[in-house]
Amino acid sequence: MFRASMILIKRMGIRGRLLLLIAAAMAPLMLLIAGGIAFDYQDATSRAQADVSKSAELAAMRLSEAFEDARATLSAVRMMPQVAAGGAACEDFLAKLQASQPQILTMGVLSPDGTIVCHNKLRRRQAFGDADLARRIMLPGHAEFLVGTFMIGKVSHQPTVAVAMELPQRGSQPEGSVFLSLNLNWISDVARQMSEGGRRSVLMADTASGRVLARWPDIVTFGAPMEGTPLLKRLRLFQAGGVVESVDLDGSSRLFGVSPIVLGGASNVMVALGVAKADITGSVQQRGLIALGLTIVAVSIAAMATWWLGYWTQLRPIGRLKAAADRLGSGAFETQVAIETWQAPEFRTLGASLNAMAEKLAAGREAEKAVAASEARYRLLAENTADMITAVDAAGQRIFVSDASRELVGREPAELLGKTPEALVHPDDVPIVRAMLRMLRSGSEVARAEYRVAHRDGHYVWVDVIGRPIEDNGGLALALRDITDRKLAEERLAEANRKLAILASTDELTGLANRREFDRALDVEFARSRRDGSDLSLILIDVDRFKIFNDTYGHPAGDACLKAVAGALGAALRRHGDVVARYGGEELVALLPGTDPEGAFERAEVVRAAAERLAITHDGSEHGIVTISVGVATIAGADRVTSAAGLIKLADKALYEAKHGGRNRVCQAPLQAITSLPVWPRRSADGRR
Ligand code: GH3
Ligand code: MG
Ligand code: MG
Repeated sequence: MFRASMILIKRMGIRGRLLLLIAAAMAPLMLLIAGGIAFDYQDATSRAQADVSKSAELAAMRLSEAFEDARATLSAVRMMPQVAAGGAACEDFLAKLQASQPQILTMGVLSPDGTIVCHNKLRRRQAFGDADLARRIMLPGHAEFLVGTFMIGKVSHQPTVAVAMELPQRGSQPEGSVFLSLNLNWISDVARQMSEGGRRSVLMADTASGRVLARWPDIVTFGAPMEGTPLLKRLRLFQAGGVVESVDLDGSSRLFGVSPIVLGGASNVMVALGVAKADITGSVQQRGLIALGLTIVAVSIAAMATWWLGYWTQLRPIGRLKAAADRLGSGAFETQVAIETWQAPEFRTLGASLNAMAEKLAAGREAEKAVAASEARYRLLAENTADMITAVDAAGQRIFVSDASRELVGREPAELLGKTPEALVHPDDVPIVRAMLRMLRSGSEVARAEYRVAHRDGHYVWVDVIGRPIEDNGGLALALRDITDRKLAEERLAEANRKLAILASTDELTGLANRREFDRALDVEFARSRRDGSDLSLILIDVDRFKIFNDTYGHPAGDACLKAVAGALGAALRRHGDVVARYGGEELVALLPGTDPEGAFERAEVVRAAAERLAITHDGSEHGIVTISVGVATIAGADRVTSAAGLIKLADKALYEAKHGGRNRVCQAPLQAITSLPVWPRRSADGRR
């Protein structure tokens, strides 16, 4: 039940709900009206009950009074001397009395055996019509006043009932009784009066015999049997009186007040006063119907008003708001929703909010368009430059790679997306990349690096990379430019320079250092020697009779000879720091840092011997082979030689000595300061000079 109503309510629209609300508000009112009508109905019924009951009692009382009057009359009559006298006196008395009492039909005196002995009209003796009454009045212990049976009088031929009282006893024998028969037409009058012009039905009935005594409206005649009717059954049930509902003799349903007519004791005569039920509740029903009609009209008006107001004040603005929301949803931001000024402020506020939202969205879309246009421009630029442009997000993954990747590394842009910038980088260069990324992430505006990345073909491409942070997403933008050609050129240049440097310091023919290199080395070593006081020796070599050699064997042979001598010199002086050079022409020189005079002389001798051992034939020489002369000079301790040129001069001097001493020998210049050392000229090792 609850679930069903919940489902129903769920499906209800606003108007349905408003109607429900109105119904809920009106229900108590309608209940109140219904309660009032029910109360009215109850009230009318109980008032009708009281009314019919009272009226019935009243009618019964009035009828009883008639019998009481009859009793009073009989009480007086029975004591009358005329009655006791009997005969004509009695008859005259009764005739006069009857004439003055219209409700009395006949009067008379009965003998104990029930014969009429005196009568107001009848002159002959005759048995009394109500024999039962005549018998009962003479029975011992009877009531003082008895009512007989309702009947059509034998004398009057009119509906009547006789009442009787016993005559006072004068001796031991009973004297008889007096009676009078009542004119029952007045009962009909009473009935007519009680019926209030036929609005109510009035019935007097003898429940013992089951006959009607009077009925108004007079649809049945006196004495008509009513045995078997529902009304009679009711009357018999309510002998003591009360209010009953029953079908009347005319077949209509009525509410009856019933009351017994007391006739000096128990009685079978009852009055039933009936009111049609329609009469009782008719006005109430009418009022109820009017109320019902008015209620229906009111409810209909309320429902229609609710339906109408529901549309204008709820559905219409909601419909407009919904349409506007739909338009917003489909991207039409330019149309505005119009809510009438008389609508509820909530709707107007909502409408204004929607309009403001539409404006913001429109502005947002314009901005988006601008951004898209600028992005397209930049993309165009990125796609059309030879540089490979990549963007890396905050997580360090590529989110954009320009088409230049095909050219640069032979790979599709899509292939590179989602990878880190370190991917493809030469293993040796990864630290360079990392350092650059670190710089950018720690706040540098720009960072630049050169490194190698792997091309699909397997070779490495040199790239010059400029990185910048992308402010709004914490990522980086990297532009990679191919600098392989430049790098190669640089390498070639470096190689050329290296070679040039070697060439600049090397003698082409002998492969030894050249004169320039030697001079440079001499300056350096001389300075060092002066600085730390270390020894510095110099050996100067000249090939003997070389002019003749050239002349004899030709210049190329001279070159080869020179080369061989130089090789021997190089091989003999291999200590680190030794500098061996071509001094010029066929003169060679060796600079021996940290070498004392003895060591220098010894090395000079080794060189001389090595040249001799080459045993190059030289017919123009006194030795038959190519030989060399050697001059040695050394700076040691606090030497007075104050320049490099001085040292060379000393060595040259010694060489001159060697030449003059006979060639193929070593001569050593004397030390300038330390006089204890061996005195120049010293002899060569072969001991020939
Ligand atoms: P000495 O030194 O024994 O007194 O006699 P010499 O013939 O060697 O005399 P000098 O030193 O004056 O002559 C040097 C000669 O060496 C001159 C030149 O013909 C020769 N010469 C100099 N440089 C070269 C060279 O590079 N190649 C060749 N083949 N000969 C050279
Ligand atoms: Mg020479
Ligand atoms: Mg020479």
